[in-house]
Amino acid sequence: MSDTRVFVGDLTRKEFRERLHAGTIQAAIVPTAATEQHEEHLEMIHDTLHVTHMAEQAAKRLHPSVVVATPIGIGVSEHWMEHIGTLTVRPEIFCEYVYDVCHSLARAGIQNILILNGHGGNVKPLMRRIDEYRDKLNINLRFQSYWDVYDPDLVFEVMENDRLPGHADEFETSTMRVLAPERVHEDDIENPLAAAGTKEKGEKLIEPAIEGVADVLRKMIADEKVDLPPVTFRAGGRLHMITGEPV
Ligand SMILES: [Zn+2]
Repeated sequence: MSDTRVFVGDLTRKEFRERLHAGTIQAAIVPTAATEQHEEHLEMIHDTLHVTHMAEQAAKRLHPSVVVATPIGIGVSEHWMEHIGTLTVRPEIFCEYVYDVCHSLARAGIQNILILNGHGGNVKPLMRRIDEYRDKLNINLRFQSYWDVYDPDLVFEVMENDRLPGHADEFETSTMRVLAPERVHEDDIENPLAAAGTKEKGEKLIEPAIEGVADVLRKMIADEKVDLPPVTFRAGGRLHMITGEPV
């Protein structure tokens, strides 16, 4: 069977060392996400499950050049703490933890690191630190959410409500129907936006995300410019750029 292992934790130290020293491993992904309420109907692992899938599949597409660090499955979710079961960490702890993971990979000799995010609450805290972290590590370090890679025309064509990622509604319900349908609790869907989520929409949107993430990595490895500002897609076909500035 061919070897398609991409997670750092699935390699022995010998395998990792030999691949790195041979120049085989050229980039790493650090997935960041959340364990938080996703309305009544989606299991709380949603964002971690999704970003792990996107990272793994993108890395497999570039195998053996790209490895994936162990996903960071608890993020900044203070805004959902009224819904018990949500787990959160303080923004400064989250950012420093992500930094330390990237630092570990940089110390190993990896020059290209993509922090691939799957949870909206992590975006602003990390945007505020990413330039500083890049300078400190002195490597090619990027931060993107997996939905930043979408062509807006595709999003607004496929989505009825134009909200992406939204929260536990059309997009996240659609993609969960593809990746882990048993984690969508049908009888507990309350929100009409979530009820608009279908497997067909999920199928149309998962593949372009994987390919878009793989393309970011290809460009990082080739030392090409990547022009992808952090975005969210909003109702009415509006694209919203996110900055690290406090609101
Ligand atoms: Zn989510």
